[in-house]
Amino acid sequence: MKFTFVTLFSNLIEGYFRDSILKRAIDKKLLEINYLNPRDFSTNKHFKVDDTAVGGGAGMVMNPQPLYDALSELKKQDESVHVIFLTPVAKPFRQNDAKRLATKTHVAFVSGRYEGIDERVIEDFADEVFSIGDYILTGGELASLVMCDAISRNIEGVLGNSDSLSVESFETPLLEAPSFSKPKDYRQNSVPKEYLKGNHSKIRSLKLALSECKTKFFRPEQFIKYNCTSAMGFLVKKTK
Ligand code: SAM
Repeated sequence: MKFTFVTLFSNLIEGYFRDSILKRAIDKKLLEINYLNPRDFSTNKHFKVDDTAVGGGAGMVMNPQPLYDALSELKKQDESVHVIFLTPVAKPFRQNDAKRLATKTHVAFVSGRYEGIDERVIEDFADEVFSIGDYILTGGELASLVMCDAISRNIEGVLGNSDSLSVESFETPLLEAPSFSKPKDYRQNSVPKEYLKGNHSKIRSLKLALSECKTKFFRPEQFIKYNCTSAMGFLVKKTK
């Protein structure tokens, strides 16, 4: 799968792909990462890419022309590219989006800077717009990296053990049960004894109970949904 980062600051992004899982995925040719700098398309003699906001307001806004030309070039090279703009006002990015987007062949992330991007470019080019949360970052680079990482681990072959995907939090209504590693005892704290006895059915029950506790504590609204779904399952079984 190909990712193109449309950004004024590719150096903020590049380092992330120099190590660990995503680097291995690039080496295995499962991922290809490209960069496109709108500044390279600026027709301004000083390669300016921003200006004051029309109608007033604080700060600078990214001009339409460099981005428009950069994205036109990208579309010319690959008509099928799926263009995503990062903006704090859009719908929140979720695990389901990560899985869906992992089926695309080419995704481009457009990062804003300053007070954001001229709205006309977004309207012309966006296939989707996403926010990564209700807070304001200085630019879209971190947000696009977050999305790229979450999408990439859903591409077949990227994770060493793809089984880990199916039991992760947000795959089911319950969060994943707490994990423990060796040693069994650490600083006078032991892992749950049931985990050590090798009875897989008991381990499964304990993990389910711990998942329920964790979901109830961290995501009470999610727990209510889970409870309702379980109750519906029970009713359906009873009435059969
Ligand atoms: N003035 C804008 C507003 O109030 O909505 C904020 C602009 S922000 C300083 C600059 C850029 O950072 C945005 O164009 C966007 O690309 C990116 N950005 C900031 N926060 C983000 C978030 N929570 N999710 C996604 N992108 C974000």
